Amino acid sequence: MPTELPTGTPPSGQSSEPRTERRRLTAPNTPEDNGAFRIATVAGIPIRLHWTFLVLLVALGFMGLRGTGSEGVSLLFVLALFCCVVLHELGHALTALRYGIKTRDIVLYPIGGVASLESLPGPRQELWIALAGPAVNVAIAGALYLFLNLTGQSLTFQLEGPRPQFLANLFWINVMLAVFNMLPAFPMDGGRVLRSLLSYVTSEDNATMIAARIGQFIAVLMGLFGLATGRLGLIFIAIFVFIGAGQEAAAYRTKALVSGRQVREAMVREFRTLPVGATLREAADALLAGTQQDFPIVHGGEVVGLLSRSALLQGMAREGPHGYVAGSMLRDFPVVHPDDDLEAVLMDLRGMMGGSILVMADDTLREEALVGMLTQENLLEFLMLSQLQKHQAHAQL
Ligand SMILES: [Zn+2]
Repeated sequence: MPTELPTGTPPSGQSSEPRTERRRLTAPNTPEDNGAFRIATVAGIPIRLHWTFLVLLVALGFMGLRGTGSEGVSLLFVLALFCCVVLHELGHALTALRYGIKTRDIVLYPIGGVASLESLPGPRQELWIALAGPAVNVAIAGALYLFLNLTGQSLTFQLEGPRPQFLANLFWINVMLAVFNMLPAFPMDGGRVLRSLLSYVTSEDNATMIAARIGQFIAVLMGLFGLATGRLGLIFIAIFVFIGAGQEAAAYRTKALVSGRQVREAMVREFRTLPVGATLREAADALLAGTQQDFPIVHGGEVVGLLSRSALLQGMAREGPHGYVAGSMLRDFPVVHPDDDLEAVLMDLRGMMGGSILVMADDTLREEALVGMLTQENLLEFLMLSQLQKHQAHAQL
């Protein structure tokens, strides 16, 4: 289904092994990240199963047990269906790779898959990347159609009955996948195709906005139809499309604001650190004394940890005010370089549920190299200011 927005470009600059290593420690690359487990790796792309998918399997198993589904078919059919979904996503991922864009992972949700590209394709590339997914389903459907015709089998969609038509069902599912994904609504592939085509006649910003509005309009129609006909699944998908369209537009606006900007432009330069021997009470005092939420922890001229506000509060609850910050601080804290691409870092920050990121001027963890912090609050302010400047620039034209 939808290719997700790019989730981070590799940091600019090359000699940053320790830095990227370090960032990976907390960035979403661990197998259980975001509740999705790696089940396979194809062409270097991890394929992950989201935990909600297990709920679907359990529900199907349960239905099979109660005899409300067609035993033997449901589970096998779901597996075949998800192979088709994986192939669809690989269609996106491998086409993106042709343009030099890597895919971070493919995550399978009960309603489809999401291939997360590492960087944003240009409009022309986006067109082909978006089309490649549904094209895979068209190809599978075409092959099944030929086979069924040549062997003289029926093409009727039939889930119930003594001998459900496995291949015919699979044919229809692929037709539906292709059609559904070509709906001109974000975050469906059709929405991306639409934006790509619109960007030939208008600005990319405009194209995104129009495509998002159309997406939401279609989602509302879908939801109303679902309500009128009592189809819960359709209402669920409509909500997913509606939210996805809004998120997509917001993400693109943010991207437009931060694209080409560096970490140093958005980082906080004034902040305080705490010694590793400080107590949680001292940390709480520092928290109350100013606006800083997260504190770098130093020891012997080195940065050894990061104490977030939530970790501080949890530590307080666990150990009381006399506990030491060392017991509550994060030791595998994320680190970036002032020259790093802000867009890429923002994507990582999103994956980390919004803590702060330390900005180190070199690859060591020396206290003097700590030149800044990227915080949620400051990033928001930075985005608002950029938006204002953009408006002013327009007004001056
Ligand atoms: Zn797709």
